[in-house]
Amino acid sequence: MSNSSNVDSGEIEKFSQLAHRWWDKDSEFKPLHAINPIRLDWIKSHVTLTGQSILDIGCGGGILSESMAQGGAFVTGIDLSVKALKVAKLHALEVGTQNIEYVEISAEDLARDKPESFDIVTCMEMLEHVPDPSLVVKACARLVKPGGWVFLSTINRNVQSFLMAIVGAEYVLKMLPKGTHEYAKFIRPSELLAFCNACGLSEVDLKGLHYNPLTERYWLNQSTQVNYFMAVQKK
Ligand code: SAH
Repeated sequence: MSNSSNVDSGEIEKFSQLAHRWWDKDSEFKPLHAINPIRLDWIKSHVTLTGQSILDIGCGGGILSESMAQGGAFVTGIDLSVKALKVAKLHALEVGTQNIEYVEISAEDLARDKPESFDIVTCMEMLEHVPDPSLVVKACARLVKPGGWVFLSTINRNVQSFLMAIVGAEYVLKMLPKGTHEYAKFIRPSELLAFCNACGLSEVDLKGLHYNPLTERYWLNQSTQVNYFMAVQKK
């Protein structure tokens, strides 16, 4: 288990209970499967994956980690849900994904052990589940090599994101279990950028992720009102 106190054990338990369904594309994880090609393309619009060492923080069952390894990167996925990591390892074995390892450790602890070890760090759909996201961003900044990239995604905090990400997704469309997200833990892009800038990470790209419930399609654009992606680089 991690020494870090920046963990909400209730959040880890929530993901652990669902972990066996992580690779079921019609399960609670359907949105992560649906957005994965979009976020992977967005990452690849900034960096080449081949031969790069990538750390995926809060990797869960490994949807993003595996796709980056299949793209030619050497991927380390970390999480604190033992069950999710078990599922991730089994799935990589099943489909024969190479160049991937999964470790139970917090970002903060790994940053202490292995600073400046990764060309790229990804931390997606995870920051809104931790007590102090600024500490995770700080760990990202320590873990990435100088000149390296960090790709983040989370949910904005405003009336629209409350209506879309909580009321819409959890209560109306029932895409996610009730209680998946907590409004107070949402993070404004300006706040996330301030966390980044405070530890030497500069903004390169900011995009909003949009969803049309009628067509079940996702796409990126400039409006960051609800879900958004931020790419930053270490000086
Ligand atoms: N990043 C993955 C999974 C997102 S679900 C994806 O986008 O496909 C959020 C994940 O964050 C869960 O697996 C949960 O166990 C993990 N998590 C939550 N708090 C964490 C913490 N403090 N340290 C590491 N992982 C954490």
